Amino acid sequence: MKPEHSEVLVIGGGPAGATTARELARSGLDVTLLEGSSHPRFHIGESFLPRGLTDLKELGLADRLATLPQVRKLGAEFLMGHGKEPPSYAWFSSSLVPGEQAAFHLERAPFDKMLLDAAREAGVKVLENTRVLKILRLEEGLVALTAERNGTARELTAHTLVDASGQATVLGKHLGIRKVLPDLKKVAYYGHFRGVYRGPGDLAGVITVVLCKEGWFWIIPLDEERTSLGLVLNEASARQTGVAAKNLLKWAIERCPVMAERCRNAEFPETNVVSADFSYGCRPFAGPGYFMVGDAATFVDPVFSTGVCLSLATGRQAAAAIYKILRQGHEAAPLQEAYRHYVEDTTAIFFRLVRQFYEPAFRDLFLTEKGPFSVHKAVISVLCGHVFPRPPFSVRWRLHLFTLFLKLQKRFALVPRREEFSLIETRADVS
Ligand SMILES: Cc1cc2nc3c(=O)[nH]c(=O)nc-3n(C[C@H](O)[C@H](O)[C@H](O)COP(=O)(O)OP(=O)(O)OC[C@H]3O[C@@H](n4cnc5c(N)ncnc54)[C@H](O)[C@@H]3O)c2cc1C
Repeated sequence: MKPEHSEVLVIGGGPAGATTARELARSGLDVTLLEGSSHPRFHIGESFLPRGLTDLKELGLADRLATLPQVRKLGAEFLMGHGKEPPSYAWFSSSLVPGEQAAFHLERAPFDKMLLDAAREAGVKVLENTRVLKILRLEEGLVALTAERNGTARELTAHTLVDASGQATVLGKHLGIRKVLPDLKKVAYYGHFRGVYRGPGDLAGVITVVLCKEGWFWIIPLDEERTSLGLVLNEASARQTGVAAKNLLKWAIERCPVMAERCRNAEFPETNVVSADFSYGCRPFAGPGYFMVGDAATFVDPVFSTGVCLSLATGRQAAAAIYKILRQGHEAAPLQEAYRHYVEDTTAIFFRLVRQFYEPAFRDLFLTEKGPFSVHKAVISVLCGHVFPRPPFSVRWRLHLFTLFLKLQKRFALVPRREEFSLIETRADVS
């Protein structure tokens, strides 16, 4: 049978794939998107950055977004797990960079479906329940793959391939370039709860991050009733607990005073979901015949809720480059190189901050909610996401200064060191 041909094939119908495909179709390209599952489907990643809202508005999706159940997010709350100190807050309104100062939390299943429906309406041929099995050919101007639907395999070809397969990294695995970042080897345990404590007013909408020596919990309000709750642990500590992965979240909540208090009246799920080894990069992010977008390219630790925002941004950027190649006769190689730089520059600032976040000195300094020359506001500007591909000078120099303060904090304790809370060293009967 003759392979089906499109100008662009997109693997994956999450936010990155749907956005790339929609942008391409809106500019007149013939796009086929292959999605292994069918929407709506569960996905983790429910807290957004103000920058994500900017992107959705620019994509013309604000009205559709408004129809989805969501909770307004004005910032983040940070607490040490022992609960001996009052919470600290990072409000988006303190950002040094102009732009949206609010974001939202929502359940991903309807959000992702909304994006995929919008792509379909823009003219993308969306094939759900269609899993890509193998890349057969990958070169500039000609790509071929096999995909399976209902037990039947079919061959598809295109000029350009976009890998938006998320953590499956179909192309990264095909090329053998998926590299897990050894210093960010983490495991996440999560689920949806009911009846978790919410603060009054604006506090009801913040993302809460509860810090322990071995990692951190998130509390994300999804709607009136439901709350997404999760724990990220470093891999070695996860093994050390000796607790079955599917029960680990409940075990950890019960050991952590702040979490136990917030979940006092909560309905827990039977077991938790588990994701491991989720920080990696698949370099080069673009090359002959392909572009990788969203998680398929690289994944930054989720502590700052960057994932979907980066998926929208990389999707838009890749679509613009592909349009230039296919419709404006631009040479592919320089655009692929520019795209690689874009992804590198855009994610570098987050990787740097994530690595700093895991140092106790970061908690000592950032949780004070102040700092000379407003350095903490530079960090909040990054947390808003209005910083890529390159943050403004006012943010850059402050971030350098913040890094210097972190070094000094480690050596000289510029501010009092915070008492740590350990999930593993804490006996359940002690709290
Ligand atoms: C623990 C954790 C917490 C997170 N928290 C947040 C958060 O608070 N905020 C945030 O913004 N982000 C968060 N993220 C990140 C977020 O989930 C991702 O960044 C985001 O979903 C990436 O979108 P994507 O479109 O690249 O990939 P995905 O949304 O994963 O979509 C990929 C799609 O590809 C499909 N697919 C996979 N393989 C194939 C195949 N072979 N053939 C066809 N289709 C295929 C899948 O079915 C899927 O629908 C979190 C991630 C983790 C692990």
